Amino acid sequence: MKYAFPISDVPSVPVVGTDLAFAVRRIYCVGRNYSEHTREMGFDPERDPPFFFAKPADAVVESGATIPYALATHNLHHEIELVVAIGKQGVKVPREMALDHVYGYAVGIDLTRRDLQLAARDKGRPWDVGKGFDQSAPLSGVHRAVDIGHPTSGAIWLDVNGTRRQKADVAELIWPVPDVIAFLSELFVLEPGDLIFTGTPAGVGPLEPGDRIRGAVEGVDEISLTIAPHETA
Ligand code: MN
Repeated sequence: MKYAFPISDVPSVPVVGTDLAFAVRRIYCVGRNYSEHTREMGFDPERDPPFFFAKPADAVVESGATIPYALATHNLHHEIELVVAIGKQGVKVPREMALDHVYGYAVGIDLTRRDLQLAARDKGRPWDVGKGFDQSAPLSGVHRAVDIGHPTSGAIWLDVNGTRRQKADVAELIWPVPDVIAFLSELFVLEPGDLIFTGTPAGVGPLEPGDRIRGAVEGVDEISLTIAPHETA
């Protein structure tokens, strides 16, 4: 097949400890999966079933990158998250079998154009422009579950310019990883290369040009990101 335009490389991140890359197929994200964050967004953290949104695969940005402040927003927010990397096809996966489908874990930042997300939410419109924009999915390398196991507890935190903004424990997830996989696989056939951002704890907030961001999930990895400074004439 000859294509009309040159093909971009498949988006990928390194598989840590190997010479392999994890090729990203789809990026799914869970909304409101920590109680305190659910409250700060103005909702009751009752155990509603999880809901999902998506980002394009090419939104992935490798840890350590410097990215421009996002287009079309005045309220770009950070959301530190545990990310699940799927390694085996699955549909209607029972929660007891769910971890068999996990290849590994990573640390991600669900960058959000909060102003556009909230405007869409209030008008009953899709979240795509608030969530699924260019370079909106910074991601650490993927760590294989055979190497690190399946994290069910451990600190999750994010600092901006050395000040702690978010701090919680992944044990506080309203819907833990097996439940998330069970629910998501009722909606979509999961395939190797799929990523699932599992939701962020409280403390989300705005980023500014020049900000230096560090975050981590204990037992998985760290992630760093810089928002490019304003251009000086
Ligand atoms: Mn999120």
